[in-house]
Amino acid sequence: MRGKLVYPYSNALLGYEFKRDHPLKPDRLKLTYLLSKQLGLLEKVKELEPALATREDLELFHSPEFIDAVVDSGTNNNVYPRYGLGTADNPIFPLIHETGARYVGATLDAMRAIIDGASNAFVISGGLHHAHRSLASGFCIYNDVAIAINLLHKKKQAKVLYFDFDAHHGDGVQNAFYGSKDVLTISVHQTGQTLFPGTGFIYETGGAESTGYSVNIPLLPGAGTPELIRVFDEVVAPLFESFKPDLLVTQLGVDGHYLDPLAHLTYTSHGYETVVAKLRDMSSDSCELGWLAVGGGGYHPVNVARLWTLFLAIMLEEDVPKLIPEEFRDICTQMGYHDIPEFMRDEDKVVQMYVPREQVTMDLDRSLRRLQELVFPYHGL
Ligand SMILES: [Zn+2]
Repeated sequence: MRGKLVYPYSNALLGYEFKRDHPLKPDRLKLTYLLSKQLGLLEKVKELEPALATREDLELFHSPEFIDAVVDSGTNNNVYPRYGLGTADNPIFPLIHETGARYVGATLDAMRAIIDGASNAFVISGGLHHAHRSLASGFCIYNDVAIAINLLHKKKQAKVLYFDFDAHHGDGVQNAFYGSKDVLTISVHQTGQTLFPGTGFIYETGGAESTGYSVNIPLLPGAGTPELIRVFDEVVAPLFESFKPDLLVTQLGVDGHYLDPLAHLTYTSHGYETVVAKLRDMSSDSCELGWLAVGGGGYHPVNVARLWTLFLAIMLEEDVPKLIPEEFRDICTQMGYHDIPEFMRDEDKVVQMYVPREQVTMDLDRSLRRLQELVFPYHGL
């Protein structure tokens, strides 16, 4: 029998805070951990205290010059705009290197546990998908996902399917494996025409030797649960079937939720739940190494806690109560949060649309047709 779900977490992760009013708040992790604990879900997992990634670990993906710049920016307060350090998105702070390396450590510990036989892992701090080899970007210093996949490949040959449903394009992970046929990356996101990082178009299909192994589905603002489920059924599922990955890696950023303040998608808990349950079933049925799930974006901390706790329950095949515990809601109020959802799942109500549904649907029809022409033939589909 395979081991328990691995869940790396410690208070040391909460030091990753650019500055007080920055949207990436450590409360996202703190509240997720608290709610998951209150619902008894953490009794079913194997908790790990994340180690610090070593310099050798970081160099599995990042350049030595970039790591030096991160260390120096934290130690000596020097900014390096050419490395994305000290910009509006990524202000420097004293623990920038240590906490960045701790985030990587959490994902690496999960990957090591999976290599050693754990069935799956959920790393809520992980998913820093915008970091590039020599560039911090979009709140991401070190790219834990690219480093962890490179570590896996150092130890064994394995096919990895990376699926990213964060509202933003997973550009850092895509670029890390753009020339590889061992890692198939699939990102569904709000179109780069209207959202950071401005990439992730259908024609980005991979390098010359690996065409068809980078897959992008940009969505118009306003797209929501029907589109997410359709992309899953019409793109992710068939590619999963033909690629037959040994390991599934998913970036589960929840900034595409309709309550999120940074993006303009309208996913609901129902859409996420449907997709996460399908990912669980597919990976447990056919991935020899299992499933490494990481967090990602999400900028309404209470809502992030609610959704990631729901995801953990789905991974564990446990149920959650209908109502969010009063005790948890009180703590959120004391921490200064307002608009705290009452239910674990979204109520069935019409989510405000930013553009007419017809336009969103027609645009996705076009995108899927184009994708079927550009990418599917490389997978015998
Ligand atoms: Zn995002």
